[in-house]
Amino acid sequence: MNNIDVLIVGAGPTGLVLALWLTQQGVSVRIIDKSLGPGETSRAMAVQARTLELYRQLDLAEETIAAGYKMPAMNMWARGEPKARISLENAGNDISPYPFVLVLPQDRHEKILVARLETSGVIVERQTEFMSFREEGERIVATIITPTGHTETCTATYVAGCDGAHSPVRHQIGSDFEGGTYNHLFYVADVNASGVTPANEGHIAFDKSDFVLVMPYGPENQYRLIGTVESEEG
Ligand SMILES: Cc1cc2nc3c(=O)[nH]c(=O)nc-3n(C[C@H](O)[C@H](O)[C@H](O)COP(=O)(O)OP(=O)(O)OC[C@H]3O[C@@H](n4cnc5c(N)ncnc54)[C@H](O)[C@@H]3O)c2cc1C
Repeated sequence: MNNIDVLIVGAGPTGLVLALWLTQQGVSVRIIDKSLGPGETSRAMAVQARTLELYRQLDLAEETIAAGYKMPAMNMWARGEPKARISLENAGNDISPYPFVLVLPQDRHEKILVARLETSGVIVERQTEFMSFREEGERIVATIITPTGHTETCTATYVAGCDGAHSPVRHQIGSDFEGGTYNHLFYVADVNASGVTPANEGHIAFDKSDFVLVMPYGPENQYRLIGTVESEEG
């Protein structure tokens, strides 16, 4: 596909939502991703009210809410003792029609976006890798590798770099937004667990220098655990 308005590189949440939004505005897009398929790990969990407000304009808010879990409360612990419980139900009543914290694992979330995009007539082109682009007058000419390994060019008015942390698009335009990494090593686990009290609520527990975050993502004892791995020196 050539001579489109926007070539979107990357079909993670950023690229998918951009594609939905532009399509709704009548802007033609082509969206490519070098991966085999959508992400299959949960990764990001919380969907903020502002995201749902944007989704409302795409008529996508209710479907997203139905697929997620409204976290009722966050409990704070210190050295094994309960210290506080913050109710999150309707926490932002006065400022948003979505005044809660919605938990929806990123893989499920992406599937909703991909399906909605398909109903708008846009298919994510997988195993299609952006290599480089050049400007020719008012347009860009991108070089991409197709699933069969062939090199082809794609002309568009704009290229949108939604290609993640290491973004080849961003590097090619000379942006020096490098990002960084934490010094700590973290673990992430999605588990079915019993004995969490109160059940199906969020918990954050602090020890001397350590923490564990327990985030429910379903009403039936499904939790995401996140914490730091202590160094062997202690
Ligand atoms: C274990 C884990 C837990 C996380 N937890 C959270 C959390 O709790 N909260 C939170 O906000 N975030 C979290 N994140 C981060 C979150 O997953 C990212 O912020 C999010 O995926 C970024 O979305 P994106 O669309 O910008 O980029 P990505 O999801 O990285 O998507 C970029 C896409 O671009 C594609 N691509 C890259 N280069 C090319 C190329 N040359 N040609 C074609 N395609 C290309 C990639 O295949 C990829 O599909 C977590 C991440 C991990 C790994």
